[in-house]
Amino acid sequence: MTREWEGCEAPRPRSLASPKIELRTTGLGRGVFATEAIAAGELLIAVAHVFVAEAGQYTIQLDDDRHQAGTGEIDDFLNHACEPNAALDAERLCFVAVRPLASGDEVTFNYLTSEWDMAAAFECRCGAERCFGTIRGYRHLSREQQDSLAAAITPFLRRKRASGLPSAA
Ligand SMILES: [Zn+2]
Repeated sequence: MTREWEGCEAPRPRSLASPKIELRTTGLGRGVFATEAIAAGELLIAVAHVFVAEAGQYTIQLDDDRHQAGTGEIDDFLNHACEPNAALDAERLCFVAVRPLASGDEVTFNYLTSEWDMAAAFECRCGAERCFGTIRGYRHLSREQQDSLAAAITPFLRRKRASGLPSAA
């Protein structure tokens, strides 16, 4: 385990953010941006250990009735993209870079890899060739779309996905 993960294991009332990212306001609203180059695999944000039972605009789903709460910190402003450069490590409750980022790149996360049924749907304009369009949660995707995300989804969504498969009996 590398040193940067040490803070990730301890209970934390506040989020911890890499010094290589910052919150910025653009013409499209607020977002999280790299302030220097970031390698794939680097820790970006360790989210606060604060949980709520109901989904909201800034929550991250961990189980049917367990969501990481919006705490007003930087992770609340991670915008969605269908081909993101960051992913959630749901066991450590950390966001990690999955591709190298250049200084100035927006840090993005695919909400469909953690959310089953979102509190508020929105129309994605990420521009990816395989954009999912309306983002409403994993449950609303076609089987083909669900399959395309199978390697990226959280343990909670893997359980939901497994329970939704037709019985072999
Ligand atoms: Zn998209």
